[in-house]
Amino acid sequence: MRAAVLHAPRDLRIEEVPKPQVRAGEVLLRVRATAICGTDVGIYIGKEKTNYPRIQGHESTGEIVEIGEGVRDLSVGERVVINPAVFCRDCFFCHYGTTNLCNQGGLFGREFDGSFAEYVRVPAYSVHKLPEEISFIDGTSLNVLATVLRAHDRFAVKPGDLVAVVGQGVAGLLHTRVAKLRGASKVIGISRSQWKLDLARQFGADEVAGAGGSDAVKQVMEITGGRGVDVVIESVGKGDTLRESMEMVRPGGVVVAFGVGAKSIPDFPHYLMYYKELDLVGSRGMRPVDYENGIRLCANGQIDLKPLVTEVLPLEKLKDGMETMVSNPGKALRIVINI
Ligand SMILES: [Zn+2]
Ligand SMILES: [Zn+2]
Repeated sequence: MRAAVLHAPRDLRIEEVPKPQVRAGEVLLRVRATAICGTDVGIYIGKEKTNYPRIQGHESTGEIVEIGEGVRDLSVGERVVINPAVFCRDCFFCHYGTTNLCNQGGLFGREFDGSFAEYVRVPAYSVHKLPEEISFIDGTSLNVLATVLRAHDRFAVKPGDLVAVVGQGVAGLLHTRVAKLRGASKVIGISRSQWKLDLARQFGADEVAGAGGSDAVKQVMEITGGRGVDVVIESVGKGDTLRESMEMVRPGGVVVAFGVGAKSIPDFPHYLMYYKELDLVGSRGMRPVDYENGIRLCANGQIDLKPLVTEVLPLEKLKDGMETMVSNPGKALRIVINI
């Protein structure tokens, strides 16, 4: 089969490799689409560790072409989306229902070969059925939606709440939409890029702030009559934006540290956290239930994934897609490889 094989940082080659052999408890998928996500880019440039040679790719959809021994409830020809987070199903965290925190897990395309390839084998528990209403290309964004829904299970947007979403990338836009679905009376979408703010409106933002790097905290304070919002979802992952989030939330409010990027924050506003009596909420990865809920919301038309994909490329152009993400991460929202 054809696959994109990473031999060293930035040394990505399209090669002919053996088709994976399905084992007991697994299914073999004919991969149809795989998105390039930030984690892939981190592995590609060598910032995130992997063993070489490695086939990357994990936010994928495909069709089942072979079923391993002992697999029930799935059949050949079914359309599916992959949950790329591997978990052991046996540890304290898995038993507790928090498979996203499994400490014996891993990720497809990093610890295991992934799906920038024609075929991939995955455990049967890793696939979720993809209804006809969701295309293979759009379905790759269910992965991001699942992480967003996991986060929304960690705190409550209550009907009538004022919510700010800092960062309007793929996850930020989905947070904007989900906050509206949960009954927020007003969602403020925050980004420097005007085109992302236009998309934020499309995803349900009532107000936007921060265009061109303008003072988003000041604008949020104006919009909320000087009080601040009830909930801020930080979806950028930088120290500055987390600090701003803690400034624009009202006393007694919730700040969700959803974005990943900064390993630590210099000058963490500890006093502000005490003084405003803030709840700071972390969220990591997703669980199977988050896929099931996300699939239903999209199949029902409550969430439209289509505007998230800004570019579709063939497997041969994967390297170009990676380089675009490295050199100009703000240019494309989401690049999907059609395989
Ligand atoms: Zn990813
Ligand atoms: Zn586990």
